[in-house]
Amino acid sequence: MSLELHGLGVSRGIAIGNAHILFHNQPDVLEYIVLNGEVEHEVARLEHATEQAKKQLKAIRDNIPANAPADVSAFIDTHLLMMQDSSLTKIPVEMIRQRHCNAEWALQLQRDALINVFNEMDDPYLRTRRNDVEHVVNRIHRLLADEESSDVDITDGRLKGAIIIAEDLTPADTMLMQHQGVAAFVTEHGGATSHTTILARSLGIPAIVGVGSLRRYIQDNEPLIVDGEAGTLIAGADANTHDEYQQRLISFKQHIASLSRYKSQPSQTRDGKKISLHANADSPDDITTISNSGAQSIGLYRTEFLYMNRNSPPEEEEQLTAYRKVVEGMNDQAVTIRTFDLGADKTVDGGRNLNQTTTNPALGLRAIRLCLKQPNMFRTQLRAILRASAFGKIKIMFPMISNTQELLQAQHLLQRCKFELDKEGLEYDHHIETGAMIEIPASAICAEMFAKQVDFLSIGTNDLIQYTLAIDRIDDHVNYLYDPLHPAVLRLIQVTIDAGKKHNVPVSMCGEMAGDSRYTRLLLAMGLENFSMHPNALLEIKQVINETDLGQLPKNALQILNMSDPFDAELLLEQINSPSH
Ligand code: PEP
Ligand code: MG
Repeated sequence: MSLELHGLGVSRGIAIGNAHILFHNQPDVLEYIVLNGEVEHEVARLEHATEQAKKQLKAIRDNIPANAPADVSAFIDTHLLMMQDSSLTKIPVEMIRQRHCNAEWALQLQRDALINVFNEMDDPYLRTRRNDVEHVVNRIHRLLADEESSDVDITDGRLKGAIIIAEDLTPADTMLMQHQGVAAFVTEHGGATSHTTILARSLGIPAIVGVGSLRRYIQDNEPLIVDGEAGTLIAGADANTHDEYQQRLISFKQHIASLSRYKSQPSQTRDGKKISLHANADSPDDITTISNSGAQSIGLYRTEFLYMNRNSPPEEEEQLTAYRKVVEGMNDQAVTIRTFDLGADKTVDGGRNLNQTTTNPALGLRAIRLCLKQPNMFRTQLRAILRASAFGKIKIMFPMISNTQELLQAQHLLQRCKFELDKEGLEYDHHIETGAMIEIPASAICAEMFAKQVDFLSIGTNDLIQYTLAIDRIDDHVNYLYDPLHPAVLRLIQVTIDAGKKHNVPVSMCGEMAGDSRYTRLLLAMGLENFSMHPNALLEIKQVINETDLGQLPKNALQILNMSDPFDAELLLEQINSPSH
């Protein structure tokens, strides 16, 4: 019998493949007494499971693909070291011998003791190492329970072509899985602009988030169909449905292929207005996709992925190598590097989270706030970016600016880094441009203030919508409120575009809205001239631009900024987008 589940379709495309379930089921651990004659057998069981766990980890580490995020192996090494430590090898064995308890129980008691020690540490970094203890012990527990590990193993060939079914995925998990050729992601939680979603979209992987009860209905390995646009997940499809989706998959691929004719065409409206199209990127690996998309430059290079899946932040030389690779890969085209936007859902991995856990992490120490709170880490990044600017055109962009002091402090630190490099005789672009992201309503309202201080502004609609409508972008309970057409959102965008024009400062948009073709004509009508998006969306956006005559757009198009009824707004948007315009 066929079963259809619905969620939020967040990354377009059709996928047909088998389920790979990534729920981390933790086996229940019960205590029982081991008979005298069985004690050594129990010890051997624990030692065998620990050996198996080590083997699994070594196999993963030894097969890390060359293009995997730097230092993934360091993350795995930490877990390997823990498995070799006497606190997890000798002490549980002694417990089994002394208490005659089962291996699982001994391991659990020791895990709790270690976690208590970590919890009491003053150093917040060391305190968060308890997560590593949990991961390591969970792996051994699963082996003791004879369960296969359900961790995301980056070399696990089983994931090729699989449809990943998970409760939630971190951006780090997603980054690791991109190396395995997964066919689609379906999660119980998540929102339209969560970083995991954005990653899936930029990787061109169909994805659905917010599908309830996945765990109850979907079996491991069963054949599934994913429609990433409609947000539909189908299990047990009959032959007709299967054929229909197979046909749609072929049509979707043909549509994508047909867009390639726009690659060499200039991006301009029918009445001759030139529009700049730029790409968003997360890693040097994106360069090939970007080159194929015909983007004019990289409008947003998210650097935080360099900091993930590792235990310590990247050093200056490592960052320099990464940024240099990007800028050289882009030849003479500019690369706008955004300083690290860590915090909230983007934590530094290995259990390390640079911001303290707060009730509202999205409102807490993230982005520029964290950069300024960690001046050494920030300085390292600024120096690396500056040094990379000797090899090509780079611009620096600061995320989540909320007041002019933050901007001044960031620029001051940049100035100091320039002095240092001058002293050290190291080269960089002395005229490097700096810009601010407009992601907070306060900054949009005061965009003129920032326009006077920077070379460019970039509207981050993902956060701007989150903060304007007070909806956590990763909370699926409120993702129905996500609405780029809300008049408050549109007015803030308009204010920012107008501020840029008034002060002759270019304004671009680099949030997901810029890559959604439903909004392209409206944004053109509002006067936006620079769009930056995941490269997979670029040719489609160019198609819309090339088929638009600005003079023919409905005269009342901008009334949408005053529409109180979302249905009226949708109707007007349809009119704006109708082919005759
Ligand atoms: C945004 O907020 O729109 C943006 C581009 O930044 P990020 O999605 O990385 O927060
Ligand atoms: Mg943002």
